[in-house]
Amino acid sequence: MIIRARAVVTMDGAPIENGAVAISGDRIVGVGKFPEVSAQHSGQEMIDLGEQALMPGLINTHCHLDYTCLRDKIPRQKSFTDWIRAINVEKSKLSPEDYIASINEGFAEAKRFGTTTIANLTAFPELIRQVPDASLRTWWFAELIDVRSPDRANELVDSAVESLKFAPNYGLAPHALFTASKNLYQRCEEAGANVLLTTHLAESREEMEMFRDASGPLYEFMKSIGRDMTDSGHGTPLERFLTVRDSTTLKAFKARRDYDWLVVHLNELTESDFELLEKMKTKFHVVHSPRSHEYFGHSRFPFKRLHALGFSVCLGTDSLASNESLSLFEEMRAFRRNEPDVPPKKIFEMVTVNSALALRQRKTLGRIRPRFRADLIAIPCAEGGDRFAEIVAFDGQIHWMMVNGKTLEPASACE
Ligand SMILES: [Zn+2]
Repeated sequence: MIIRARAVVTMDGAPIENGAVAISGDRIVGVGKFPEVSAQHSGQEMIDLGEQALMPGLINTHCHLDYTCLRDKIPRQKSFTDWIRAINVEKSKLSPEDYIASINEGFAEAKRFGTTTIANLTAFPELIRQVPDASLRTWWFAELIDVRSPDRANELVDSAVESLKFAPNYGLAPHALFTASKNLYQRCEEAGANVLLTTHLAESREEMEMFRDASGPLYEFMKSIGRDMTDSGHGTPLERFLTVRDSTTLKAFKARRDYDWLVVHLNELTESDFELLEKMKTKFHVVHSPRSHEYFGHSRFPFKRLHALGFSVCLGTDSLASNESLSLFEEMRAFRRNEPDVPPKKIFEMVTVNSALALRQRKTLGRIRPRFRADLIAIPCAEGGDRFAEIVAFDGQIHWMMVNGKTLEPASACE
């Protein structure tokens, strides 16, 4: 099959005007100017997308589809700890059926906004067998919390892996340092070299206060629910994370690479944290959610400093309990508002190339290149336009997409 478009944004060099992509099965087999691609693959079915820009499908590296049904349910709170209380109240009203409906609704919405790959954290890995095939490429991360039962860390990890292992791609997500024990983090690291890991880190000022100063609303709240607070008052969340990781006991996993981790947030960092980050030989991936960040009013995301230290930054939507939609186009625009001098191409890399790297798919996703998976989307474009600026400015829904070589109807998913 050949797909022709006004422009093909490959992420390798400049966009190709009057371009085409040849697909065979689930893979891309050719890309270039239309006359050349059609000569090389003559006699094949052709789809002409006309005045559209064809590009790699978007990759959302952080979301919680469990909470799609909580859109507009939680107004902005004065403190992060109040938000945790509020979401706990909402969660207590939901049944397993509500969560399954929420996940399905989330997949449908992500699709409408051109997302073809999604890294989704679920607090209910046992439910995912009941989620019908979403047709999006999904990494299922089991979100693990053992704050009320720290002696059950081993059991939690084993049962999560048992539930997830039939999924083509999966990982583990110890929720955050304030809700997951050191033992739980270590068990996740020891779960196997192929298991990707993600966690929320240094998200709020209250998390900083809890770990560094052993005080503040989050400290008081966690103490009130019976958490062992002896790890507080000894350093920043980042320091604590690196200490927990350093104490991984099994020798085989000592060598586990830092870049196996997708570290979400990293909003609150001290000067000593930046020194630690600079010393890290291999860097983990950082996931930033610009609109969820705005909703909480965290300190400014230190993009420039992290970038200068060699960290690869990806974008994610987080959940609809702190965001308005699952559109990565909206996230790119929100990022651009905060960092107007970062070129649009660099911003687009944060939902394509960088995200593929974080999911260890550097050679299969995030670009239009022969042998890569045929995950593609298209948006309207103008003759002679700046393609990356058009992408970041795109404010709408997608009308054509392909995942794994199959065209999907993105709009019909919401019916
Ligand atoms: Zn999150």
